Amino acid sequence: MSEQHYCVRCGTRMTYQERFGKIRPVCPACGHVHFDDPKVAVAVFVRQAEQVLLVLRANEPERGKWALPAGYVDRGEDPKVAAEREVLQETGLSVRVTRLIDVIYEGVIVIIYEACVVGGTLYAGDDAAQARWFTRQEVPEIAFRSTQQVIAAWRAEQPLS
Ligand SMILES: [Zn+2]
Repeated sequence: MSEQHYCVRCGTRMTYQERFGKIRPVCPACGHVHFDDPKVAVAVFVRQAEQVLLVLRANEPERGKWALPAGYVDRGEDPKVAAEREVLQETGLSVRVTRLIDVIYEGVIVIIYEACVVGGTLYAGDDAAQARWFTRQEVPEIAFRSTQQVIAAWRAEQPLS
């Protein structure tokens, strides 16, 4: 249930009532109903020469495991822009989103994009203890079901020879 205590329209203390099939905060004075927006995250599968770009997570959750560069989409931000921003912040690489891989629900909505490198220099930035390329054979323990699915599908592909 939401933690919305006071009405954003009139400041009255909210009550909890059923509206649109769920118990939601409702203002007893003006009738305003508060809806919690779902959280949206992006994860980015960056591949280059049969290698995938992973970051070692410096923070919880899943600290100490490797994952795709990922983060939350800001309000008002295009998810593709968020994807390119997160990769740059975490790895120092400029990328361009090339396609949508999947949208999955993992407590938050995760949009998974594929992207290619267009510039920059690899280093470990925000949230990342390390950032590096892995071949299919080298892939370490992976955090998050979304990343595990994408990596498993990639590892099942035949490498280009
Ligand atoms: Zn109100």
